[in-house]
Amino acid sequence: MHPALRIARLGTEPAFAVSGMARALAERGHRIYPFHIGDLNIATPANIIAAQQRALAEGKTGYVSPAGIAPLREALADDTSARRGVRYSAENVAVQPGGKPVITKFVQALMNPGDEVLYPSPGFPIYESQVEYFGGAARAYRYVATGDGFGIDLDHLESLITPRTRLLIFNDNHNPLAAQATRGEIERLADIALRHDLWVLSDDAYYEVCYAGQPEHVLSVPGMEQRTVLLYTFSKKYAMTGWRLGAAIGPREIIDVIARLNVNDESCTAAFVQWAGVEALRGDPAGPRAILDELRQRRDLALSLLRDIEGVTAHPPRSTFYLFPNVTGAMARKGFDDVNAFAEASMRECGVSFCTRDHFGRRHPGETEHYIRLAYSGISQADIREGLAAFKRWLAS
Ligand code: PLP
Repeated sequence: MHPALRIARLGTEPAFAVSGMARALAERGHRIYPFHIGDLNIATPANIIAAQQRALAEGKTGYVSPAGIAPLREALADDTSARRGVRYSAENVAVQPGGKPVITKFVQALMNPGDEVLYPSPGFPIYESQVEYFGGAARAYRYVATGDGFGIDLDHLESLITPRTRLLIFNDNHNPLAAQATRGEIERLADIALRHDLWVLSDDAYYEVCYAGQPEHVLSVPGMEQRTVLLYTFSKKYAMTGWRLGAAIGPREIIDVIARLNVNDESCTAAFVQWAGVEALRGDPAGPRAILDELRQRRDLALSLLRDIEGVTAHPPRSTFYLFPNVTGAMARKGFDDVNAFAEASMRECGVSFCTRDHFGRRHPGETEHYIRLAYSGISQADIREGLAAFKRWLAS
């Protein structure tokens, strides 16, 4: 078999490989505490499930419009407009089978081979994969530790811009750093995009997994609405990761192109899943509120236990369901200088499984501290308590 040459440039999502290892150990009888993957062990709210069952019973099982059913496009336009202070209508929305497809369609719609694309490292690994797969040049910008979290290194980001730079990928409420941008950062980022005529992908996967107020949004800066595509997803806020429902939202001319890609790729997103999405947006908000409450309790618990471990430092995130502690001291005490070997040993020896910084893109020169990502979305409070106690004992042993 000779795969197409471009396949050599296609990346992957290493968190799924960590899941495979954790599953294999669990099958051999190991007790595993799953802090590795950004999935939820919380049920989708009952009203959303009931809406899907109703849609199926009513025979909503055929093809629908490639851009999505009108009631969902309208509901998404209303919801995203209200939360971000803009004015979208249904024509600004192309429904997708998940948030992830927005990444590839944004890249396919706007990037020519040889174009340069700015993206975050650490960051969601699919950005780099899709840019390189379609013949672009992925240019990673960095974040820096600020004392109470992480901030974008905007000087570094701007220094990467050349006449070939065309796109900027921005994931506020960031995976894996849990960084939330300040108003100042948002304004400067928008100013860079406007001055250098860049299109922006705003990956809003965690915009509404926010524990205090509403985050600032790049769309609030005048001029940004005309050059920004939102990645919207139902996965995290509504605990719907496996349903595969999301949307690309942005200027009409680019949404029309993305809808044409839908025709070529999946024809349409399952109609009965879209009707469930309408209920999520228009129905009782108690379900997502309860999900957020549970996540907040897990965050507080995990953070307080982590901070009690020698050699581990962690900041309290305002959003997402990730912690990104610095474990340099703990690794040194335990005799590790490779964070991936440290992660593997932890999984085997105390059952605590997590991703590392290296699962989220290449390191920048001079990056010497070691970080891990703990997701608390797929593990109960009892297991957080038990798992982090086992981790602490293992580190001290
Ligand atoms: N963007 C980020 C930053 C993510 O972390 C994820 C999922 O983990 C996605 C996009 C895609 O999510 P989905 O395809 O489930 O909507």
